[in-house]
Amino acid sequence: MQRTLILLKPSSIERGLVGEILSRLEKKGLLIVGMKMIRLSDELIEEHYSHLVSKPFFPILKEAMQKTPVIAMCVKGKEAVRLVREMVGPTNGRNATPGTIRGDYSISALKNLIHASDSLATAQIEIDRFFKPEELFDYKTVMSTALYAPD
Ligand code: GDP
Ligand code: MG
Repeated sequence: MQRTLILLKPSSIERGLVGEILSRLEKKGLLIVGMKMIRLSDELIEEHYSHLVSKPFFPILKEAMQKTPVIAMCVKGKEAVRLVREMVGPTNGRNATPGTIRGDYSISALKNLIHASDSLATAQIEIDRFFKPEELFDYKTVMSTALYAPD
C-alpha cells in the first residue's frame, strides 16, 4: 500500500468542487487517512514549490495558493501515488484529457484545482510536510475486502 499527498487548492474550493473531487477519490477505492483545512504560509509555499521559486509566475502562484484555505489530504491505496497523478492529469487543464480531474474541470495551468505528489519519495516528504504522525489514521472499512483481490 502507498500513501500520497493531495491538496485541494483554492481554485477547487472557490468553485465548490471539493465534494466532487473527494467523491472521485473515494469511488476509486482510495482510503482517506488524513484530512484538514489549512492556510498556507509564505514559507510553506516556498518550500512546497521550491522547484518553481525562480519562475516568473511564482508570485501569482503564491497569491493563488493563499486566496482561500486549502484542504490537505493523505490517501492510501495500492499504487496510490501513480493512480492519483493519473486521476489528476497533467498540469495545464487545457492539456488534460477528459476523464481526469483537471481535464474535466480546469481550463488553466494556474487554476488547476488540485496538487498530488509526483513520486513515492516526494509523497513521503510531502506527507511529513503537511501532517503530524498523530494526524494520520490507520483503519479498515467494510470496503477493503470488496476492493482488492490478490494480484
Ligand atoms: P503539478 O505537479 O502538475 O501541479 O505541476 P508543477 O509541480 O510543475 O507546478 C506546480 C503548480 O504551479 C501547478 O500545479 C500550477 O498551479 C503552477 N504552474 C505550473 N506551471 C505553470 C505555468 O506555466 N503558469 C502558471 N501560471 N502556473 C503554473
Ligand atoms: Mg508538482
